[in-house]
Amino acid sequence: MDRRALGIAGAAVAGAAGIAAILRWRLWSGGVPSTPTPPVGDHFDASELVRNREYRRGVWAMAVAAVPVAPAVAVAVAAMSGRWSGPVARLAGGRPWRAGLIFGAGLSVATAAALLPLRGARFAWGREFGLITQGFPAWAVDVGKGVAIGAVIGGGLGAAAAVLIARAPRWWWAWLAGGAAGFVYLSSLLAPVVIEPLFQRTVPLDDPALERDILALARRQGVDADRVLVNDASRRTVTANAYVSGLGASRRIVLYDTLLRDFPREQVLVVVAHELAHVKHRHVLKGTTWGALLVIPGCLLCFAMVGARTGWGRARPGTEGTQLVLRRVAIVAATVSVVGAVSAPLGNWVSRAYEREADWTALRTTDDPASQVRLFQGFVRTSLSVPDVPRALHVWFGSHPEPIDRIGMAERYAADPDPAPDPEG
Ligand SMILES: [Zn+2]
Repeated sequence: MDRRALGIAGAAVAGAAGIAAILRWRLWSGGVPSTPTPPVGDHFDASELVRNREYRRGVWAMAVAAVPVAPAVAVAVAAMSGRWSGPVARLAGGRPWRAGLIFGAGLSVATAAALLPLRGARFAWGREFGLITQGFPAWAVDVGKGVAIGAVIGGGLGAAAAVLIARAPRWWWAWLAGGAAGFVYLSSLLAPVVIEPLFQRTVPLDDPALERDILALARRQGVDADRVLVNDASRRTVTANAYVSGLGASRRIVLYDTLLRDFPREQVLVVVAHELAHVKHRHVLKGTTWGALLVIPGCLLCFAMVGARTGWGRARPGTEGTQLVLRRVAIVAATVSVVGAVSAPLGNWVSRAYEREADWTALRTTDDPASQVRLFQGFVRTSLSVPDVPRALHVWFGSHPEPIDRIGMAERYAADPDPAPDPEG
């Protein structure tokens, strides 16, 4: 690497650390006490967890195996760009946007193809244990839709990157960062209305009594919850869940129909209170902001990698220049893919903090810790989870606190509903 590239890469890493420190300071959760982890044996029989552990061991093995796949594909494609960039540039008629489009869509499809065996194994494993109820044809259709969406998004990002790299050899990374940050917000805004309907059907909650209880909870939290929807999760899974998605006008709380079917009313209200807490604390907006701001140093790092591998000069118009643009786009994609995989633990660290805050707020609004304990016990049972996930796996993959810690928080609340907050959050 030349010294200029090293300097820029160093600035990118320092910038990322600075942004993360500021976000940790300004966008963290507050007022959540530290909570002890109760012994697993207090809440679960070892015998009832045997099957769960067997199921989870398989899931973890597949998740670990999947981590390096996308980066490996992207890095291999970038390393071999000498071979394919010429033909692709000619196919695109020497137009950078077309070349970037072909590359982005192609890489997205190649990555999906490389991941397909693991996805198939994951599906078969879930069917084997009775967790997945979806049939193979419906699953295959969902996979197909996912690949198509990925190709469209990949093609769009590839085209945008190629045009910027061709037109702005010094500042493309900044334009790209701005565009990507906008894209991150737009995805959060549009996912519930554009992407989610492709994979599930939702209907408004049709249960006036529950709706009354939900609205009362929402009032207590100072949240307007005009849109509570129920999806058709039972067509795909026996697990129960709920989530909040969207920003502003697209915001909604979605309850799995399995949750309403399999869990008692007071536990459903705990889940709703948790989701309302995500709304109250603006977790979707905060999480999106983490992503959007950290994209900026990420793009600067891409700039350093591109400069180190292909120099800093402008690509000339025409097929040969477009070939250089393509090689640069491939380096950007490889860098993004590696950084994205490596930064997964950071995203989950943030997510776990928000989940703890939502759990705590749910306890304070429902004032029903016994139901919260039974809810997480029930989730472990219906999702074949393990209450105490091995540390390294939890740090890497855990978007939520471990079930036993969530139970510990409920017990802590039961013992003392108004403790001093943990200064570490
Ligand atoms: Zn949550």
